[in-house]
Amino acid sequence: MAGTDITMTINQQNMTIEELKAVMQEYGIAGAGGAGFPSYGKLSEKIETLILNCAECEPLIKVHRQMLALHAKGIIAALRRVAETVGASEILIALKPSYKEAIEAVEAEIIHTPQVAIRYLKEAYPVGDEVVTIYEATGKVVPPGSIPIEVGVAVFNVETAYNIYLAIEKKQPVSYKYLTIAGEVENPVTVKLPIGMSVKEAVSFGGNITTKDPVFLAGGPMTGSIVKGHELITKTSNAILVLPSDHYVIRKKNSNAVIDMQRAMASCCQCRMCTDLCPRYLLGHPIEPHEFMRSATTGVTKNLSPFLDTYFCSSCGLCEMFSCMQNLSPRSLINAYKNGLIQNGVKKPEHPEQSPVNLIREYRMVPEERLIARIDLEKYDSPAPLKEETKHADTVKLLLKQHIGAPASCVVTIGQRVTSGEMIAKAAPGALSLPVHASIDGVITEIGETFITISNIS
Ligand code: SF4
Ligand code: SF4
Repeated sequence: MAGTDITMTINQQNMTIEELKAVMQEYGIAGAGGAGFPSYGKLSEKIETLILNCAECEPLIKVHRQMLALHAKGIIAALRRVAETVGASEILIALKPSYKEAIEAVEAEIIHTPQVAIRYLKEAYPVGDEVVTIYEATGKVVPPGSIPIEVGVAVFNVETAYNIYLAIEKKQPVSYKYLTIAGEVENPVTVKLPIGMSVKEAVSFGGNITTKDPVFLAGGPMTGSIVKGHELITKTSNAILVLPSDHYVIRKKNSNAVIDMQRAMASCCQCRMCTDLCPRYLLGHPIEPHEFMRSATTGVTKNLSPFLDTYFCSSCGLCEMFSCMQNLSPRSLINAYKNGLIQNGVKKPEHPEQSPVNLIREYRMVPEERLIARIDLEKYDSPAPLKEETKHADTVKLLLKQHIGAPASCVVTIGQRVTSGEMIAKAAPGALSLPVHASIDGVITEIGETFITISNIS
């Protein structure tokens, strides 16, 4: 697909799916969040429903609602182009009732387009998770271990759809990223900055750090991970949160699997709250964390299902951050077991059992405000206004692999001058892969096995 003459097709009204895939690959579009699946890989003529996922389930992250309020026109135009190309019959804009400005902007855009409709989602966690959002918006359950296209759905988040718009209409590749800087900073903010900037530099846009012993968290408090200041902003970054080292969230992230297991052996009372609130269990997927905890803590392996079913955990973290009153860590232990199975070549069960959606699911959803209170984030839950002007960087270090799939390969040399938007690494041929583009004007100063550095020197 790389090498297709994009300029001949990009502005035509009608594209084939292959042409649109070529555009999305050429311009480096990956899911702007999560694992960052290359977006062209989602396109298929099987898509009946296209969902714009604007539901930010993670506390404190405020990127998509603000981007949609600002860029509804371009985003909806991009979705319509995708829908027309793949033959999807409907576009659903999935958001939460509290996103007033985004709703106003969308309503103004869709007033004469019956093909596009708003779906209001619950203000609960993890509504925003792809599988949960699909159920809330369409009533369809993605089968366990499967992908949305199995139920005729494709989901793009707001920034990804905006990147599709920029590629189609402006011929602009993905070279910058929107992200929220929040927590222990003077001025929580949502910024647009060049990909490849360091975490520490990104945090500086939130003003002074207001705690003596800060820890940086990339992503949300529920699913994010601790990062160092020298680590890099990528196409999938969506937030950097600054928290004190002794904060509840940081202590949970720093937990140790051996100690987690000893604590579980001593105090898991099999109350099954972790299962009763588990979002995937409630949708009928075969995951029951209390069963896993019983099998793992007793070492009884007569029934292997609780171990194999770890493949169907989404790692949402609700069980260990909210549900368990004993402060145990089912999610972390499940992850440790799942990783062990993968390393030992144990395959995911092929035909997992699926139950009907739990009848009392609706009453077991965890309101966002209760989650925020439980994990001690109320004092950080403030607006993080979006600043649209791109932040400046003197140096960026761009990773050759920023998402699921094969890494890109370098096509520049040291000392070469490049301009923002220029391709500096090409996608791996014949693989799920994306190119990398310069995010600032400058000179190539370093090329490593996994990265390319650009410095803004004259
Ligand atoms: S909620 Fe905690 S104590 Fe209860 S079964 Fe789950 S892990 Fe055990
Ligand atoms: S992390 Fe816990 S609550 Fe979330 S899907 Fe996995 S087992 Fe269920």
